[in-house]
Amino acid sequence: MYLLRTKETHHKYLAYRNNGGLEKGCALCERESLKEFRFWRVIKNEFPYDRVAETHDMLIPKRHTGEGGLTEEERKELWEIKCGEYINNNYHFIMEAVTKIKSIPNHFHLHLTKIKDPESTEL
Ligand SMILES: [Zn+2]
Repeated sequence: MYLLRTKETHHKYLAYRNNGGLEKGCALCERESLKEFRFWRVIKNEFPYDRVAETHDMLIPKRHTGEGGLTEEERKELWEIKCGEYINNNYHFIMEAVTKIKSIPNHFHLHLTKIKDPESTEL
């Protein structure tokens, strides 16, 4: 994910990982909600893809579960959220890391990003 994070954020992320940050409970469960739905909530990403994204949040099920553990009701609401106003008004992309590089595979999460305006970024 180095390409998506600035060097500074990437190094902060590596330090967090190297200090066992990912093994101390679930970082996603501990984060405050920016927005709550019935079964889902939006949280801030502490290590944003800030090279390309102006805003980078995450959509997670309220329950600590992997994708395979999602119930029918949770899947239905996810679909509604994806098509709904909140996501469409605040973000450009919904991204998901492939299984091999997921850093928190036990709590399903989708990355919500609003991409920087190319006229105002130094890429
Ligand atoms: Zn969790």
